[in-house]
Amino acid sequence: MTSSWRDLVCGEPRSEHVGRTLTLAGWAARRRDHGGLVFVDLRDHTGVMQLVVNPERSPEAAERAKEIRNEFVLRAVGEVVARSPETVNEKMATGEVELQVDELEIVSRSTPLPFQLDEEGVDEPLRLRYRWLDLRRDRMQRNLRLSGTAVSAIRRRMEELGFVDLWTPSLTRATPEGARDFLVPVRLQPGAFFALPQSPQLFKQLFMIAGFDRYYQIATCFRDEDLRADRQFEFRQLDVEMAFTEREDVLGVLEEAVRAVFEAVGREPPSAPFPRMPWSEAMSRFGSDKPDLRFDLEIEDATEVTRESEFGVFSGAPSVRFLVAPKAFSRTELGRLEELAKEWGAKGLAYLVVDESGDVRSPISKFLSDRELETFHAAPGSTVLFAAGEPGTTARVLGFLRLHLGRELGLVDESRDEFLWVVDFPLFEWDEDEGRWTFSHHPFTGIAPGHEERIESDPGTVLSQAYDLVWNGWELGSGSIRIHRQDVQQRVFRALGLDEAEAKEKFGFLLDALQMGAPPHGGFALGLDRFVALLAGEPNIREVIAFPKASSGADPLTGAPSPVSDEQLAELGIRLLEPPATT
Ligand code: ASP
Repeated sequence: MTSSWRDLVCGEPRSEHVGRTLTLAGWAARRRDHGGLVFVDLRDHTGVMQLVVNPERSPEAAERAKEIRNEFVLRAVGEVVARSPETVNEKMATGEVELQVDELEIVSRSTPLPFQLDEEGVDEPLRLRYRWLDLRRDRMQRNLRLSGTAVSAIRRRMEELGFVDLWTPSLTRATPEGARDFLVPVRLQPGAFFALPQSPQLFKQLFMIAGFDRYYQIATCFRDEDLRADRQFEFRQLDVEMAFTEREDVLGVLEEAVRAVFEAVGREPPSAPFPRMPWSEAMSRFGSDKPDLRFDLEIEDATEVTRESEFGVFSGAPSVRFLVAPKAFSRTELGRLEELAKEWGAKGLAYLVVDESGDVRSPISKFLSDRELETFHAAPGSTVLFAAGEPGTTARVLGFLRLHLGRELGLVDESRDEFLWVVDFPLFEWDEDEGRWTFSHHPFTGIAPGHEERIESDPGTVLSQAYDLVWNGWELGSGSIRIHRQDVQQRVFRALGLDEAEAKEKFGFLLDALQMGAPPHGGFALGLDRFVALLAGEPNIREVIAFPKASSGADPLTGAPSPVSDEQLAELGIRLLEPPATT
């Protein structure tokens, strides 16, 4: 680290340096005037060193020290001295020493700051507008360095496992991953557009057909979706594809990559193999395809028991499910839960409260048989909460309710790390709005052995070879064994409503390639920003991305996206229908 600017970084000086003359450089974190003596905390990402400017030792330095404001860049030459025992600061790694300054240079100044670096709760738009200051803070330094460590551990492990880092284009055709595309107009072909890749899916499949049997890339993907805590327009993923492979091989590689990151950051890696759970089980027990297994509170089924129920809502419903929450809720609390359940799509929320003394409070208990009551097994101090309706709705409502109660009742054991593979997803999903089948992963997903016959006759029951990785209730990524036969791929396109001409127009290159020696293959993509956010204990991926977009989708730092000149548009053959919207 030695240069003419500094002999050591700010966090390095220790007692062993006492007596040495050192040059240090960094940012002024704080200046304190003590009648004559000036103390300056000099900071860089490694720590803080106390400078002492004494007018008797260096009148010039003392004069200059008066000008110092927070975040000025300073260079100081001085002698490392031991602090007196009463002034040793045990909270600082450098707390046993200080630098008695002989020369002080103000290398660079700062205007008054929009926020102080140690200020809590600064508004996010302001943090993003002045991101260079925000990134100077400990939290962001830690997060971005953690991200760097994770990426390098992944690369190392992938390469040890024989994977080759191959690059794929950012200017390409639409790749269907279920989001809207970002389009790029083309000057040389006005009226035609590139799409930014939603993922390198088709390129990585072509690598397999081309004979690169182990590919990986830290790929940037672009998806035009509304932004959320775990979503940005552009994000990175560890993108993997393998040929002559089976599901378990792919899962094993991903487990290795995850474990390598834990090792690199000095944490106990989750033990492999991670548990596997079929999608249908995840939905029925947890009401979610990404269950958070750090707490129990499982959903139970009462459809059979309530078939003959005297409570008409139960007997008439295609599915009746319930949760037993470990608390006797008050009427007000139940009212609030019912409101939430309605927001999630329920018609109402039937309940059975058993208070501490064993008394039952419930408008429906008089309709319930002993057998039903026995099934609901509510102990004193608990509440049974019911959802009745279509199986998809009851699962979703109770799934959300489960998560809500897990948080509200403090059931989540934050010290646990629960990784899970959800496997055997359905191949298709029914799209209510469009009134047709759509893919649940992407259209290149392989079909469970034996399920091919039903693609046309009963698409809703066809299982795929797709799998998701879940960590503490966050979906970290998805993958699948792919279709490697052209005829099967054609049938899936047809089932998705793409006729032959359309399929050829959009994916002709893939269909051609599948006819020229395509090996069986499969892969995965792990969302790196989500993974690092969880690793860092951050609730939002923006906290681990250096320059993210704000939740509006705009970039407060650069002001992008921004209108462009009429000349630029004309060159691209574009005329706006309306003046540019401003955000
Ligand atoms: N292309 C998929 C995605 O980005 C991952 C995969 O199937 O490998 O989600």
